[in-house]
Amino acid sequence: MALDRPRALSGIQPTAGSFHLGNYLGAIRQYVALQETHDAFYTVVDLHAITVPQDPAELRANSRLAAAQLLASGLDPDRCTLFIQSHVPEHAQLGWVMNCLTGFGEASRMTQFKDKSAKHGADRATVGLFTYPILQVADILLYQANHVPVGEDQRQHIELTRDLADRFNGRFGETFTVPEPYIVKETGKIYDLQDPTVKMSKSASTPKGIVSLLDEPKVSAKKIKSAVTDLETEIRFDEEKKPGVSNLLTIYSTLTGTAIAELERRYEGKGYGALKTDLSEVLVEWVTPFRERTQEYLGDPATLDGILAKGADKARAVAAETLADAYDKVGFLPAVR
Ligand code: ATP
Ligand code: MG
Repeated sequence: MALDRPRALSGIQPTAGSFHLGNYLGAIRQYVALQETHDAFYTVVDLHAITVPQDPAELRANSRLAAAQLLASGLDPDRCTLFIQSHVPEHAQLGWVMNCLTGFGEASRMTQFKDKSAKHGADRATVGLFTYPILQVADILLYQANHVPVGEDQRQHIELTRDLADRFNGRFGETFTVPEPYIVKETGKIYDLQDPTVKMSKSASTPKGIVSLLDEPKVSAKKIKSAVTDLETEIRFDEEKKPGVSNLLTIYSTLTGTAIAELERRYEGKGYGALKTDLSEVLVEWVTPFRERTQEYLGDPATLDGILAKGADKARAVAAETLADAYDKVGFLPAVR
Protein backbone atom coordinates (compact mmCIF):
# COMPACT_ATOMS: atom_id res chain seq x y z
CA MET A 1 0.00 0.00 0.00
CA ALA A 2 1.41 3.35 -1.03
CA LEU A 3 2.57 5.18 2.07
CA ASP A 4 2.34 8.60 0.46
CA ARG A 5 -1.43 8.31 0.21
CA PRO A 6 -3.69 9.86 2.82
CA ARG A 7 -5.51 7.39 5.04
CA ALA A 8 -9.28 6.84 5.09
CA LEU A 9 -11.28 4.91 7.68
CA SER A 10 -14.98 4.19 7.96
CA GLY A 11 -17.30 1.66 9.56
CA ILE A 12 -20.77 0.29 9.02
CA GLN A 13 -22.92 -1.53 11.55
CA PRO A 14 -24.25 -5.06 11.03
CA THR A 15 -27.51 -3.98 12.69
CA ALA A 16 -29.70 -5.37 9.90
CA GLY A 17 -29.49 -8.03 7.21
CA SER A 18 -29.45 -5.54 4.39
CA PHE A 19 -27.88 -2.17 3.82
CA HIS A 20 -30.22 0.56 2.61
CA LEU A 21 -30.01 3.14 -0.12
CA GLY A 22 -28.91 5.83 2.37
CA ASN A 23 -25.93 3.73 3.46
CA TYR A 24 -24.91 3.20 -0.15
CA LEU A 25 -25.36 6.75 -1.44
CA GLY A 26 -24.23 8.50 1.74
CA ALA A 27 -21.23 6.38 2.61
CA ILE A 28 -20.36 3.24 0.63
CA ARG A 29 -20.11 4.96 -2.77
CA GLN A 30 -17.44 7.16 -1.23
CA TYR A 31 -15.66 4.12 0.25
CA VAL A 32 -15.36 2.73 -3.27
CA ALA A 33 -14.06 6.01 -4.71
CA LEU A 34 -11.49 6.57 -1.94
CA GLN A 35 -9.84 3.19 -2.61
CA GLU A 36 -8.26 4.87 -5.63
CA THR A 37 -6.78 7.82 -3.79
CA HIS A 38 -6.32 6.67 -0.18
CA ASP A 39 -4.83 3.93 1.92
CA ALA A 40 -8.34 2.93 2.95
CA PHE A 41 -9.58 0.87 5.92
CA TYR A 42 -13.23 -0.22 6.10
CA THR A 43 -14.69 -2.13 9.00
CA VAL A 44 -17.90 -3.92 9.90
CA VAL A 45 -18.41 -2.52 13.39
CA ASP A 46 -19.94 -5.39 15.34
CA LEU A 47 -18.84 -3.87 18.69
CA HIS A 48 -21.09 -0.92 17.87
CA ALA A 49 -23.99 -3.17 16.87
CA ILE A 50 -24.33 -4.63 20.37
CA THR A 51 -25.07 -1.18 21.84
CA VAL A 52 -28.66 -2.24 21.11
CA PRO A 53 -29.87 -5.82 21.70
CA GLN A 54 -28.78 -8.34 19.03
CA ASP A 55 -29.56 -12.01 18.57
CA PRO A 56 -26.12 -13.74 18.53
CA ALA A 57 -26.78 -15.99 15.52
CA GLU A 58 -28.29 -13.10 13.59
CA LEU A 59 -25.40 -10.81 14.45
CA ARG A 60 -22.90 -13.35 13.12
CA ALA A 61 -24.90 -13.80 9.92
CA ASN A 62 -25.33 -10.04 9.49
CA SER A 63 -21.59 -9.42 9.88
CA ARG A 64 -20.88 -11.83 7.00
CA LEU A 65 -23.69 -10.29 5.02
CA ALA A 66 -22.31 -6.80 5.63
CA ALA A 67 -18.87 -7.82 4.35
CA ALA A 68 -20.43 -9.49 1.29
CA GLN A 69 -22.44 -6.35 0.51
CA LEU A 70 -19.37 -4.13 0.82
CA LEU A 71 -17.53 -6.34 -1.66
CA ALA A 72 -20.58 -6.40 -3.94
CA SER A 73 -20.59 -2.58 -3.83
CA GLY A 74 -17.12 -2.54 -5.33
CA LEU A 75 -14.64 -2.73 -2.45
CA ASP A 76 -11.59 -4.58 -3.70
CA PRO A 77 -9.53 -6.38 -1.04
CA ASP A 78 -6.42 -5.72 -3.12
CA ARG A 79 -7.01 -1.98 -2.97
CA CYS A 80 -8.37 -1.52 0.55
CA THR A 81 -8.34 -3.22 3.94
CA LEU A 82 -11.71 -4.76 4.88
CA PHE A 83 -12.09 -6.28 8.34
CA ILE A 84 -14.43 -7.08 11.21
CA GLN A 85 -13.99 -4.71 14.15
CA SER A 86 -14.00 -7.41 16.86
CA HIS A 87 -11.08 -9.15 15.09
CA VAL A 88 -8.90 -6.20 16.06
CA PRO A 89 -8.93 -5.94 19.89
CA GLU A 90 -7.03 -2.64 19.82
CA HIS A 91 -10.34 -0.85 19.12
CA ALA A 92 -11.72 -1.68 22.56
CA GLN A 93 -8.34 -1.02 24.17
CA LEU A 94 -7.90 2.48 22.77
CA GLY A 95 -11.63 3.04 23.33
CA TRP A 96 -11.04 2.78 27.08
CA VAL A 97 -8.27 5.36 27.00
CA MET A 98 -10.54 7.71 25.04
CA ASN A 99 -13.39 7.16 27.54
CA CYS A 100 -11.08 8.47 30.21
CA LEU A 101 -10.41 11.66 28.24
CA THR A 102 -14.04 12.48 27.49
CA GLY A 103 -16.15 14.68 29.70
CA PHE A 104 -19.49 13.32 30.83
CA GLY A 105 -21.24 16.48 29.64
CA GLU A 106 -19.42 16.30 26.34
CA ALA A 107 -20.67 12.76 25.73
CA SER A 108 -24.17 13.77 26.83
CA ARG A 109 -24.39 16.26 23.97
CA MET A 110 -24.27 13.57 21.26
CA THR A 111 -27.57 13.77 19.40
CA GLN A 112 -27.39 10.18 18.08
CA PHE A 113 -27.48 8.96 21.67
CA LYS A 114 -30.43 11.20 22.47
CA ASP A 115 -32.36 9.94 19.41
CA LYS A 116 -31.56 6.28 19.91
CA SER A 117 -32.10 6.21 23.66
CA ALA A 118 -35.44 7.97 23.18
CA LYS A 119 -36.41 5.24 20.74
CA HIS A 120 -35.42 2.36 23.01
CA GLY A 121 -36.68 4.03 26.17
CA ALA A 122 -34.22 5.99 28.32
CA ASP A 123 -34.21 3.37 31.10
CA ARG A 124 -33.35 0.59 28.62
CA ALA A 125 -30.48 2.44 26.93
CA THR A 126 -27.12 0.90 27.80
CA VAL A 127 -23.92 2.60 28.89
CA GLY A 128 -22.46 1.16 25.66
CA LEU A 129 -24.94 3.19 23.61
CA PHE A 130 -23.90 6.27 25.58
CA THR A 131 -20.18 5.76 24.98
CA TYR A 132 -20.26 4.36 21.44
CA PRO A 133 -19.18 7.67 19.85
CA ILE A 134 -16.01 7.38 21.95
CA LEU A 135 -15.32 3.90 20.61
CA GLN A 136 -15.80 5.42 17.18
CA VAL A 137 -13.12 7.98 18.06
CA ALA A 138 -10.74 5.08 18.76
CA ASP A 139 -11.74 3.35 15.48
CA ILE A 140 -10.66 6.41 13.54
CA LEU A 141 -7.55 7.45 15.50
CA LEU A 142 -6.02 3.94 15.51
CA TYR A 143 -5.50 4.22 11.75
CA GLN A 144 -4.26 7.83 11.80
CA ALA A 145 -7.06 8.53 9.32
CA ASN A 146 -6.98 11.82 7.41
CA HIS A 147 -10.48 11.45 5.97
CA VAL A 148 -13.60 9.72 7.28
CA PRO A 149 -16.28 9.08 4.64
CA VAL A 150 -19.67 9.15 6.42
CA GLY A 151 -23.20 10.48 6.16
CA GLU A 152 -24.26 13.81 7.64
CA ASP A 153 -25.59 12.13 10.82
CA GLN A 154 -22.00 11.31 11.80
CA ARG A 155 -20.62 14.86 11.56
CA GLN A 156 -20.89 15.47 15.30
CA HIS A 157 -18.96 12.28 16.07
CA ILE A 158 -16.13 13.33 13.77
CA GLU A 159 -16.04 16.68 15.59
CA LEU A 160 -15.70 14.76 18.86
CA THR A 161 -12.89 12.72 17.29
CA ARG A 162 -11.05 15.91 16.33
CA ASP A 163 -11.49 17.35 19.82
CA LEU A 164 -10.20 14.21 21.52
CA ALA A 165 -7.25 13.86 19.14
CA ASP A 166 -6.28 17.47 19.89
CA ARG A 167 -6.75 16.93 23.62
CA PHE A 168 -4.60 13.79 23.68
CA ASN A 169 -1.90 15.40 21.52
CA GLY A 170 -1.91 18.50 23.72
CA ARG A 171 -1.67 16.56 26.96
CA PHE A 172 0.70 13.74 26.01
CA GLY A 173 2.52 14.94 22.88
CA GLU A 174 1.86 14.52 19.15
CA THR A 175 0.33 11.05 18.70
CA PHE A 176 -2.80 11.13 16.53
CA THR A 177 -3.68 12.57 13.12
CA VAL A 178 -6.63 14.95 13.46
CA PRO A 179 -9.16 13.66 10.88
CA GLU A 180 -11.59 15.49 8.62
CA PRO A 181 -15.10 14.32 7.79
CA TYR A 182 -15.63 13.42 4.13
CA ILE A 183 -19.31 14.11 3.56
CA VAL A 184 -20.80 14.52 0.10
CA LYS A 185 -23.26 17.41 0.31
CA GLU A 186 -25.79 16.05 -2.18
CA THR A 187 -26.10 12.55 -0.70
CA GLY A 188 -25.03 13.05 2.91
CA LYS A 189 -28.59 12.59 4.07
CA ILE A 190 -31.01 10.36 2.16
CA TYR A 191 -34.48 10.62 3.63
CA ASP A 192 -37.09 8.08 4.66
CA LEU A 193 -39.56 7.54 1.78
CA GLN A 194 -42.58 7.83 4.06
CA ASP A 195 -41.27 10.68 6.22
CA PRO A 196 -38.92 12.78 4.09
CA THR A 197 -37.96 14.94 7.08
CA VAL A 198 -35.94 12.17 8.82
CA LYS A 199 -33.04 10.09 7.55
CA MET A 200 -33.51 6.60 6.16
CA SER A 201 -32.25 4.28 8.91
CA LYS A 202 -31.67 0.56 9.41
CA SER A 203 -33.05 0.61 12.91
CA ALA A 204 -35.60 3.46 12.85
CA SER A 205 -37.31 3.48 9.43
CA THR A 206 -40.62 1.72 8.85
CA PRO A 207 -40.51 -1.05 6.19
CA LYS A 208 -42.22 1.20 3.63
CA GLY A 209 -39.84 4.08 4.33
CA ILE A 210 -36.59 2.21 3.65
CA VAL A 211 -35.14 0.78 0.43
CA SER A 212 -33.23 -2.30 1.55
CA LEU A 213 -30.74 -3.25 -1.12
CA LEU A 214 -31.26 -6.99 -0.70
CA ASP A 215 -35.06 -6.88 -0.91
CA GLU A 216 -36.79 -8.35 -3.96
CA PRO A 217 -36.35 -5.61 -6.60
CA LYS A 218 -40.09 -5.43 -7.20
CA VAL A 219 -40.66 -4.70 -3.50
CA SER A 220 -38.24 -1.77 -3.72
CA ALA A 221 -39.90 -0.56 -6.94
CA LYS A 222 -43.24 -0.51 -5.14
CA LYS A 223 -41.81 1.48 -2.26
CA ILE A 224 -40.51 4.14 -4.66
CA LYS A 225 -43.94 4.30 -6.29
CA SER A 226 -45.64 4.88 -2.96
CA ALA A 227 -43.09 7.41 -1.66
CA VAL A 228 -44.66 10.41 0.08
CA THR A 229 -44.39 13.59 -2.03
CA ASP A 230 -46.64 16.67 -1.78
CA LEU A 231 -49.90 18.08 -3.10
CA GLU A 232 -48.37 19.96 -6.03
CA THR A 233 -47.47 18.38 -9.36
CA GLU A 234 -44.29 20.22 -10.32
CA ILE A 235 -41.04 18.25 -10.33
CA ARG A 236 -38.59 20.68 -8.81
CA PHE A 237 -35.68 20.36 -6.36
CA ASP A 238 -36.60 22.29 -3.22
CA GLU A 239 -35.54 20.54 -0.04
CA GLU A 240 -37.53 22.83 2.21
CA LYS A 241 -40.86 22.96 0.42
CA LYS A 242 -40.67 19.65 -1.46
CA PRO A 243 -38.55 17.25 0.61
CA GLY A 244 -40.09 14.06 -0.82
CA VAL A 245 -39.63 14.98 -4.48
CA SER A 246 -36.16 16.40 -3.78
CA ASN A 247 -35.13 13.12 -2.15
CA LEU A 248 -36.29 11.15 -5.21
CA LEU A 249 -34.41 13.53 -7.50
CA THR A 250 -31.23 13.12 -5.44
CA ILE A 251 -31.47 9.33 -5.63
CA TYR A 252 -32.22 9.40 -9.36
CA SER A 253 -29.44 11.85 -10.09
CA THR A 254 -26.79 9.90 -8.16
CA LEU A 255 -27.69 6.45 -9.47
CA THR A 256 -27.66 7.63 -13.10
CA GLY A 257 -25.04 10.37 -13.00
CA THR A 258 -27.58 12.87 -14.41
CA ALA A 259 -27.58 16.45 -13.09
CA ILE A 260 -30.69 17.41 -11.13
CA ALA A 261 -31.26 20.42 -13.42
CA GLU A 262 -31.34 18.03 -16.38
CA LEU A 263 -33.91 15.83 -14.61
CA GLU A 264 -36.05 18.88 -13.83
CA ARG A 265 -35.99 19.75 -17.55
CA ARG A 266 -36.73 16.19 -18.61
CA TYR A 267 -39.78 15.92 -16.34
CA GLU A 268 -41.20 19.38 -17.01
CA GLY A 269 -44.96 19.11 -17.40
CA LYS A 270 -44.93 15.43 -16.38
CA GLY A 271 -46.42 14.21 -13.10
CA TYR A 272 -44.86 12.50 -10.09
CA GLY A 273 -46.06 9.13 -11.44
CA ALA A 274 -43.70 9.34 -14.42
CA LEU A 275 -40.73 10.24 -12.22
CA LYS A 276 -41.46 7.42 -9.77
CA THR A 277 -41.95 4.80 -12.51
CA ASP A 278 -38.67 5.70 -14.18
CA LEU A 279 -36.77 5.85 -10.89
CA SER A 280 -38.14 2.48 -9.83
CA GLU A 281 -36.76 1.01 -13.10
CA VAL A 282 -33.38 2.65 -12.51
CA LEU A 283 -33.32 1.20 -9.02
CA VAL A 284 -34.26 -2.32 -10.16
CA GLU A 285 -31.47 -2.20 -12.71
CA TRP A 286 -29.00 -1.21 -10.01
CA VAL A 287 -30.02 -3.60 -7.23
CA THR A 288 -30.41 -6.72 -9.41
CA PRO A 289 -26.67 -7.23 -10.10
CA PHE A 290 -25.83 -5.98 -6.58
CA ARG A 291 -27.95 -8.78 -5.07
CA GLU A 292 -26.37 -11.36 -7.38
CA ARG A 293 -22.84 -10.30 -6.45
CA THR A 294 -23.71 -10.39 -2.74
CA GLN A 295 -25.07 -13.93 -3.13
CA GLU A 296 -21.88 -15.00 -4.90
CA TYR A 297 -19.72 -13.83 -1.99
CA LEU A 298 -22.04 -15.48 0.52
CA GLY A 299 -21.97 -18.70 -1.46
CA ASP A 300 -18.20 -18.92 -1.04
CA PRO A 301 -17.58 -18.54 2.70
CA ALA A 302 -13.98 -19.74 2.49
CA THR A 303 -13.06 -16.86 0.17
CA LEU A 304 -14.99 -14.36 2.27
CA ASP A 305 -13.36 -15.55 5.50
CA GLY A 306 -9.95 -15.42 3.81
CA ILE A 307 -10.50 -11.79 2.78
CA LEU A 308 -11.56 -10.88 6.32
CA ALA A 309 -8.63 -12.73 7.90
CA LYS A 310 -6.14 -10.93 5.66
CA GLY A 311 -7.91 -7.64 6.37
CA ALA A 312 -7.72 -8.18 10.13
CA ASP A 313 -3.98 -8.90 9.89
CA LYS A 314 -3.34 -5.74 7.89
CA ALA A 315 -5.51 -3.65 10.22
CA ARG A 316 -3.87 -5.06 13.34
CA ALA A 317 -0.40 -4.21 12.13
CA VAL A 318 -1.38 -0.53 11.97
CA ALA A 319 -3.63 -0.50 15.04
CA ALA A 320 -1.11 -2.23 17.30
CA GLU A 321 1.57 0.32 16.48
CA THR A 322 -0.72 3.27 17.28
CA LEU A 323 -2.00 1.65 20.47
CA ALA A 324 1.53 0.91 21.72
CA ASP A 325 2.46 4.54 21.19
CA ALA A 326 -0.70 5.78 22.96
CA TYR A 327 -0.20 3.39 25.91
CA ASP A 328 3.37 4.55 26.26
CA LYS A 329 2.41 8.24 26.13
CA VAL A 330 -0.29 7.73 28.80
CA GLY A 331 2.31 6.20 31.11
CA PHE A 332 1.44 2.49 31.13
CA LEU A 333 4.35 0.30 32.16
CA PRO A 334 5.47 -1.79 29.18
CA ALA A 335 4.79 -5.51 29.62
CA VAL A 336 8.02 -7.49 29.71
CA ARG A 337 7.58 -10.73 27.74
P1 ATP B 1 -28.63 2.38 12.53
O1 ATP B 1 -30.05 2.89 12.37
O2 ATP B 1 -28.53 1.01 13.11
O3 ATP B 1 -27.73 3.41 13.18
P2 ATP B 1 -27.86 3.31 9.95
O4 ATP B 1 -28.88 3.16 8.90
O5 ATP B 1 -27.70 4.66 10.56
O6 ATP B 1 -28.12 2.20 11.05
P3 ATP B 1 -25.03 2.86 10.12
O7 ATP B 1 -24.42 1.51 9.98
O8 ATP B 1 -25.17 3.47 11.47
O9 ATP B 1 -26.47 2.82 9.38
O10 ATP B 1 -24.23 3.89 9.21
C1 ATP B 1 -23.34 3.49 8.16
C2 ATP B 1 -23.01 4.69 7.31
O11 ATP B 1 -24.15 5.08 6.54
C3 ATP B 1 -22.63 5.93 8.13
O12 ATP B 1 -21.55 6.58 7.47
C4 ATP B 1 -23.85 6.79 8.10
O13 ATP B 1 -23.57 8.16 8.23
C5 ATP B 1 -24.40 6.47 6.71
N1 ATP B 1 -25.84 6.68 6.63
C6 ATP B 1 -26.77 6.06 7.38
N2 ATP B 1 -28.01 6.48 7.04
C7 ATP B 1 -27.84 7.40 6.03
C8 ATP B 1 -28.74 8.18 5.27
N3 ATP B 1 -30.06 8.10 5.44
N4 ATP B 1 -28.23 9.01 4.32
C9 ATP B 1 -26.89 9.10 4.13
N5 ATP B 1 -25.99 8.38 4.83
C10 ATP B 1 -26.44 7.53 5.77
MG1 MG C 1 -26.48 4.90 12.29
